[in-house]
Amino acid sequence: MEDKYEKNILTKNRLDKLSKQLINSNTPSSINLLQKYKVSKSHILKGVHCSNCSHIPMQRKRGKWNCPICEQQSTDAHIATLKDYALLIEPIITNQKARVFLQIESPTVSNRILTSEGFPASGGNKDRKYHLIFNK
Ligand SMILES: [Zn+2]
Repeated sequence: MEDKYEKNILTKNRLDKLSKQLINSNTPSSINLLQKYKVSKSHILKGVHCSNCSHIPMQRKRGKWNCPICEQQSTDAHIATLKDYALLIEPIITNQKARVFLQIESPTVSNRILTSEGFPASGGNKDRKYHLIFNK
């Protein structure tokens, strides 16, 4: 893509403005799946699930997700879990909510996961919100 489209059409400033506008005008789907299927939020299992045997939760060790049942390892198993969060709960997440939903003890680790996925963020350091927008 970068080779094909070499010329910058928009300035960085204009691009930043445009991306902020897009984030602000993004209206979450009005379908409330939990309501639709009469499922309570408290019934949603928390934690990252194993793509091999479906066990929840996988455990995070040295930068990898490990399944205690089938021993499958993954570096990006949290993405499916964050997609579930966006669809079932809301498309915006804080570090603290991510830590609880992904079942990670360390706030530093969950913060690292959210920032490394490159989710657009808004708000100050204390109330930073990550917009769960997925490219694939
Ligand atoms: Zn497994």
